[in-house]
Amino acid sequence: MKSLVDERLREEARTFALRFACEDCAYFEPEYERCGNGYPTGSHAHVDLSLRRHLEFCKEFEFAGPLALDAG
Ligand code: SF4
Repeated sequence: MKSLVDERLREEARTFALRFACEDCAYFEPEYERCGNGYPTGSHAHVDLSLRRHLEFCKEFEFAGPLALDAG
């Protein structure tokens, strides 16, 4: 799903610590920098909203939980 990135989204992402990138997904395999489900990660990994005009949200995203946040 492709969403427009505007200042409101950037602010909300900062305020609520929104997570949507592969690094915070339960299916991500950080040791290999790849998706465990075999999906391409190019548009979902290491997303910097300050540099993006659009965000491609992966429909398979599954929040990995606080441990992923602590590690990153
Ligand atoms: S399921 Fe989607 S968000 Fe999760 S690691 Fe794979 S490509 Fe990234």
